Amino acid sequence: MERSHKTGKSAPILVVEDAEPLTPLAEKILSPEELEALFDPDANGTAASDFGTSRFVEPEPAAAEPVKPPVAPAAGRKLGPTGRPWPDLPEPPPVYKHGPATVMAMCNQKGGVGKTTTTINLGAGLAELGRKVLLVDFDPQGSLSVGLGVNPHTLEHSIYDLLLSKDTGIDEVIGATKVPNLDILPSNIDLSAAEVQLVSEVAREQTLLRVLEKVKDRYDVILIDCAPSLGLLTINALTAADKVIMPLECEFFALRGIALLHDTIAKVQDRLNARLEILGILGTMYDPRTLHCREVLERVVQAFGEQVFHTVIRRTVKFPETTVAGEPITTYAPTSPGAEAYRMLAREVLARCHVG
Ligand code: ADP
Ligand code: MG
Repeated sequence: MERSHKTGKSAPILVVEDAEPLTPLAEKILSPEELEALFDPDANGTAASDFGTSRFVEPEPAAAEPVKPPVAPAAGRKLGPTGRPWPDLPEPPPVYKHGPATVMAMCNQKGGVGKTTTTINLGAGLAELGRKVLLVDFDPQGSLSVGLGVNPHTLEHSIYDLLLSKDTGIDEVIGATKVPNLDILPSNIDLSAAEVQLVSEVAREQTLLRVLEKVKDRYDVILIDCAPSLGLLTINALTAADKVIMPLECEFFALRGIALLHDTIAKVQDRLNARLEILGILGTMYDPRTLHCREVLERVVQAFGEQVFHTVIRRTVKFPETTVAGEPITTYAPTSPGAEAYRMLAREVLARCHVG
């Protein structure tokens, strides 16, 4: 039962031939109850309290229906970590003229799931492909700024000024990074005050949209790194965005918040931004050696089907190191598997946006 390509151990998950057919994404946005049901202890035969290392037990092959070995992927195509064959991604064509930008919000109300890491490194991957990219730090913690070598404490202007002061021009705030084609709108703790101050503004949810409109023509992609909450700042990001990317840490509790996030996105689509679409769910901090990680990824694919990116980001200490270095992994460790994964994600993102 070959599945875990690296470890060579037999892994009990996903027999492709027998797997439930993947459901088109739009139909598979689960209600909290449905999502709970996915993890119903009775359904997978384990006590509710018994999911210390692995919440899911290995499925016993039914006596009457012996498990068949997985079929070889068609025409030699390798199976990816999500259990699906790797897609043939088209070579993104060069761009000769920039803009208008597709705006993407990196969103998950849970902290520490890889939003900032993905914003930086996906941005760098897209920039390597010749796209002009603006990264928007929309978290008062300023981690995106720090991760690109900007000191948030010494900023003269930050995104806060653009949201709440009419006197600051956007060019006074946008900074270049060391990576060609990659610019940043930095933030710092001032942004937490914006959350409160915006409440009394007219059209408060559209404030970031109005700021970004001014530079959309200069960039191909604008990536917004959201704060770990579903407050007014995140609503602003979703109102400004065309697409949402949801990074999801490959561990059990990560899944619980996804239903709530889908709910929020549906409300924003309904009331504020009809063009908003979910571009994809990205598995992060994946460790193929643990059964738990593989099972969580399997469940995510079962629930969300093609919405899940084929690219999965593995857990590696290289990412925390890049934060200290203040640069993306694509320049810090250009040949590392982490850099390759984000380059692959950049291609997938372009293909999904039909701008590849
Ligand atoms: P978020 O923005 O969702 O809070 P971060 O991107 O800041 O999450 O990641 C949280 C921490 O995890 C950071 O220290 C980061 O360096 C680390 N990290 C992110 N992705 C990975 C990964 N694939 N492997 C190991 N560590 C990671
Ligand atoms: Mg962050």
